[in-house]
Amino acid sequence: MKFSNFFISTLKENPSDSRLVSHNLMIRSGMIKLETSGIYTWMPLGYRVLKKIIKIIEVEHEKKFINQILMPTIQSAEIWKTSKRYDSYGKEMLKIVDRYSKELLYGPTNEEMITVLGKQFIKSYKNLPRYFYHIQSKFRDEIRPRFGVMRAREFIMKDAYSFDINEKSGEETYVNFFKLYLKIFEKLGIPILPVRALSGEIGGHLSHEFHMVVDSGESEIFYNKSIEKNDFKNIELNKILKLESYTDDFYNKIPKKIEIPSFRSIELGHIFLFGSKYSDSFDFTINSESGKFKPYMGSYGIGISRIPAAIIELFHDKNGIIWPKEVSPFQIILINLLNDNETTKDFCEKLYDQLISSNFEVIYDDRNERSGTKFADADLIGIPLQVIVGKNLTDKRKVSIKYRNNHNEFEIDASDCPKSLMEIING
Ligand code: ATP
Ligand code: MG
Repeated sequence: MKFSNFFISTLKENPSDSRLVSHNLMIRSGMIKLETSGIYTWMPLGYRVLKKIIKIIEVEHEKKFINQILMPTIQSAEIWKTSKRYDSYGKEMLKIVDRYSKELLYGPTNEEMITVLGKQFIKSYKNLPRYFYHIQSKFRDEIRPRFGVMRAREFIMKDAYSFDINEKSGEETYVNFFKLYLKIFEKLGIPILPVRALSGEIGGHLSHEFHMVVDSGESEIFYNKSIEKNDFKNIELNKILKLESYTDDFYNKIPKKIEIPSFRSIELGHIFLFGSKYSDSFDFTINSESGKFKPYMGSYGIGISRIPAAIIELFHDKNGIIWPKEVSPFQIILINLLNDNETTKDFCEKLYDQLISSNFEVIYDDRNERSGTKFADADLIGIPLQVIVGKNLTDKRKVSIKYRNNHNEFEIDASDCPKSLMEIING
């Protein structure tokens, strides 16, 4: 991509209404645009990050044979009346009436809809377990939408749902999702801490949240520092039920409290095993050799559109965003400092073509702007590797490489350029 062809609207000043660093930086770097309270457009730069996150989540779900579907955002009120959540869900639910006076709603979550789907298609115990997921917009009419996409009203969630034959099999599924979540956050380059949670209005008995610890976080969690060292790879149910990490609600309900420090954090994922709560409501019954049973269910969410904001809270400096390479919108930013110089221009054009044809994601700053502006924008949008072409090329056939995270800078021979860059990126 060339800067001249890429619609990117960076601002020098912070927007006046934002308070969180990530919100400022997302607006200033042109990642998102506010439409109306809690509702945002993802602009080209932001959408690239979102798609990276989505891709990682899809690949990891695919590996576990979790089938991707896409349910609609608009749901009928009827199914929510059946589960008795239509009134109890509260004011966060956006209710809609169509032209025939039929009651609809913009889905805040999809347990009801997936249960109806399961009931229609899963007829035999031989068909279990089954896992589905989708990535879709949710709407929750949050009382205080704030911090940009961190707490939005319309936001993108990955929600998965499981159907199992009984509690034991449901618990195995739950543990597998727990492990899957740790894997996904590792792939996203995000340090994550699983904490025990109450299951709230979705109901059920087993629930964990996945938090990123950062001082600016909206949540409070309590945990024993030693669990940071836990190796969760070989985890089993007994262990995750005894984790010394808790959401604040959970901690406050512990009768005999042990002194554990608290930390600020951002909730990025939440998993529940709620059993037959919805299969009971929808009378979803399956025949087996030993009689009838109600499938045992769970749901597993990741707040996709909250993730870029959370990452920025953790990875930034005074100049801007510092993307982990896993989710960066581009791998390389190529900067030509001498706008009117044929040598640097030709060199950059050629290098750009070579990198693109080797499948690297490059943004080439070919604008007719001052060097200061180009450097400031490169730092603001946070691409991990800056390739700087200027006087060092015309004087001594060298190109500068600079890491966004630690500002380390070194020179490479221009003639070795594509090859050295590939080694740097792949190594
Ligand atoms: P929170 O406690 O932050 O309000 P929640 O418990 O209501 O979240 P879940 O129903 O568990 O949220 O939804 C799954 C995930 O969706 C959450 O872990 C969070 O990352 C994300 N999420 C929830 N509400 C919002 C929101 N208003 N804006 C952006 N992401 C959200
Ligand atoms: Mg939650």
